Amino acid sequence: MFSVSLCLCVKEKPVKAIVLFGSPGSGKGTQAKMLTECLGVPHISTGDMLRDSIRHGDQLGTAVVARMQSGALVSDEVVNRLVEERISRPEAGSGFVLDGYPRTLAQAERLCEWLDGRGIREVVIHLAVDYNVIIARLTGRRQCPRCGTLYNIGSHPPQVDGACDLDGEKLVIRDDDSESVIRERLAAYERQTHPVLQFFLKAGRRVVEVDASYDPPSAVFQKVSQALEPR
Ligand SMILES: [Zn+2]
Repeated sequence: MFSVSLCLCVKEKPVKAIVLFGSPGSGKGTQAKMLTECLGVPHISTGDMLRDSIRHGDQLGTAVVARMQSGALVSDEVVNRLVEERISRPEAGSGFVLDGYPRTLAQAERLCEWLDGRGIREVVIHLAVDYNVIIARLTGRRQCPRCGTLYNIGSHPPQVDGACDLDGEKLVIRDDDSESVIRERLAAYERQTHPVLQFFLKAGRRVVEVDASYDPPSAVFQKVSQALEPR
């Protein structure tokens, strides 16, 4: 998917903390995976972490579950502690990719303090997309109601139009893929992310915008890799 030489050259870059932002449909998960495989550093996703923490039933996890069950948002303090515990581990010693964090200004401030206190340099990468392209991509999703297999009429169509390759079941459009829901998800992402990105910019942090609308993942990854190079 990407060349070995590129991996080797990325490995030598001094950036240790990669803070990854990407709107729904930007392929953020794919880029996170490519980065972590290439750099050999952990992918720290707050969504995964909260699920792990809950599954292991640790003290913090239990507190998180209690809050979530009461309908409250998980507090910045709890999320900060979870993330700091994770990025302090030895496996994160040569770097890490943060995904889904920071989500609020308080989290962003805390992260910057943490990084500065340890002399760790970060780069914030924002996978930006053209909304119309994303809507076309996301609304192309089709799913088999019987076996759950996902298709995309643009990039991964079934062999027979509208039917599942595995069981022939008629494919359906999932509710959350309808255009108004997608527009709302994109708007929610924008509302939440914009102030955090602005915070990084105003603080003079390195923020790199990467256009992820049209290019295949390998080409987006090339651009992401360039963003990791020293200025
Ligand atoms: Zn099926």
